[in-house]
Amino acid sequence: MSEFLRIWTEVDISEIQSHIVVVDDKFGFCTGCREIGIKIEGLQKCPKCGREFKYVTSRDKSPAMVMRTKKKLPNLIFVDYDDYERLTGKKKAETLFKSVEE
Ligand SMILES: [Zn+2]
Repeated sequence: MSEFLRIWTEVDISEIQSHIVVVDDKFGFCTGCREIGIKIEGLQKCPKCGREFKYVTSRDKSPAMVMRTKKKLPNLIFVDYDDYERLTGKKKAETLFKSVEE
């Protein structure tokens, strides 16, 4: 019987940022070219900009949603949305801080 377990791992956030697709129940959103309404099933890369997807996240992280997404995109790693937002938000703040310093 398979179950889902959240595992903490050390990552390069910029690597994830360049290969992540944000999905809802029906469609995907490319964070690279900001294309919306991407068909999810079997999705491997952005149909508009060609960005390769390795990670997927969703604002809805109910177990049912995670399971549906994993079924549609079995090769992608499901990233916790809040973790992703927190890290990318922090990175944005750091970038801003650096540009102020220079
Ligand atoms: Zn794209």
